[in-house]
Amino acid sequence: MATLSTETNTFSPVPTGLRNYEDYFLRHGTATQDPPNLMTEALHVWRSRGAARDWTITESLSAIAEPAGRTTRAAYAALKEEILRDLRAACPVDIVLLQLHGAMAAEGCDDCEADVVAAVRAICPEAIIGVALDCHCHLTDALLSQADLVICFKEYPHDDASARAEELFDLALRAHDGEISPVMALFDCRMVSLFLTKQGAMLDFVAKMKATEMEPGILSVSLGHGFPWADLPDAGARMLVVADSDMALARGTAVRLGRAFFDLRHHLVPNYPDLQTGLDRARAALSGPVVLADMSDNPGGGAPGDAVHVLRELLAQGVTNVASGLYWDPMAVRQCENAGEGAEIQLRLGGKTEPASGQPLDISGRIMRIISGLGQHLGAGLEPLGTMVWLKMPGDIDLVINDLRTQVYHPEAFEQLGVRLAKKRLIVVKSLFHFYGPFSAIASEIIFCATPGRVNPNTGLIPFTRRDMNFWPRIGDPFAQAGKPAGAASVSKLNRLEDSR
Ligand SMILES: [Zn+2]
Repeated sequence: MATLSTETNTFSPVPTGLRNYEDYFLRHGTATQDPPNLMTEALHVWRSRGAARDWTITESLSAIAEPAGRTTRAAYAALKEEILRDLRAACPVDIVLLQLHGAMAAEGCDDCEADVVAAVRAICPEAIIGVALDCHCHLTDALLSQADLVICFKEYPHDDASARAEELFDLALRAHDGEISPVMALFDCRMVSLFLTKQGAMLDFVAKMKATEMEPGILSVSLGHGFPWADLPDAGARMLVVADSDMALARGTAVRLGRAFFDLRHHLVPNYPDLQTGLDRARAALSGPVVLADMSDNPGGGAPGDAVHVLRELLAQGVTNVASGLYWDPMAVRQCENAGEGAEIQLRLGGKTEPASGQPLDISGRIMRIISGLGQHLGAGLEPLGTMVWLKMPGDIDLVINDLRTQVYHPEAFEQLGVRLAKKRLIVVKSLFHFYGPFSAIASEIIFCATPGRVNPNTGLIPFTRRDMNFWPRIGDPFAQAGKPAGAASVSKLNRLEDSR
């Protein structure tokens, strides 16, 4: 078993090198000796399930990098080869279980998951190969042709990694024992967006997927939400159905569920307010704290995490009593460490990483706390935070600046430093949706805001060059448009939308 995980934003110019895996999480066969995080939860599950059966278990690499641009050619070659080397040494094996992301691209390789699984298949052609994926994956025929079983997280925010790992283990065991013969089918929903599963129509659709798994002959149902900011031919939402030896049943069920999902499209995604509208709404709230998601600078989607567009606007408008984070700025963290806790400091914050970072912001404040080595919870897993600085600016504006690129998952990212979020009027988090559960426990209102930045949630505006442009929400009904060539008019309209952004 092994983990290899990053979600590649091919629009980001920021390379992902081996150092980025070392910074976030890199273990050579020892990941299950650490507390689980989202992408190693599965390994913990598989180890304990296998140990209960007295299986011999070989644990290989666990490598996780915060999303950014493509993984470098050298880093990908080294990570892939480590998994293959450990596998060759362990052969013969009966079952290979992999926790992959599903949206990893490297220099020279658009589909790292299919590439890794094909190499695994070549080493052990008879083994059962089971793959667990984040639901923000590109489900490809190339991957399905090499794996026996593919299962995605069903929940976003992701809180079902362990449940999916259990499911994959059960199915792999049954396949190994000859009880079942899994076959897999995909349906392309022609949708590119983000789908929060904790409310409304998506809540019902996840229940529908689970109910379908109870139908005769159906083994597993996954919705690959897709990862929008990847300029790849296979980006977008796809329905995956695993059936027991009946390909027609798998195909028919994938089409039925995929069309049902498509038919819900107008109920799945809200209209995200822009920054001005979002701040107006926050100011109009009668009580606090209001949580505003700086969605477009979410490092979890490959954005830099050092944009200061929202902070600049807050200062310009004189908004007070705010908490905001996590600002990724290792240089600022170093300056704060040099100055020490209690010091007053001037910082040139953020705006350093790439064009989407915008310009830096000159600020001043008092360094309240500096802490290293803490984590924040994402579901059952504990994700690292690096070194964090709590900076208090005039107007009771509390910033958390850190040196490890990561999104806000949990109020712990602030409160472990001493920032008391319940007293705040406004909390601005760099995150898309993962913060939602833990913050809704303390928020009077949550505003998902289409701020300026690398991962703007208005996915109809993404300037794909390699993906078919016939997708919702860019096109109202892409199935009606199928076969019609994309006209020059629609392309120039897209360019205008891009310009106005
Ligand atoms: Zn995800």
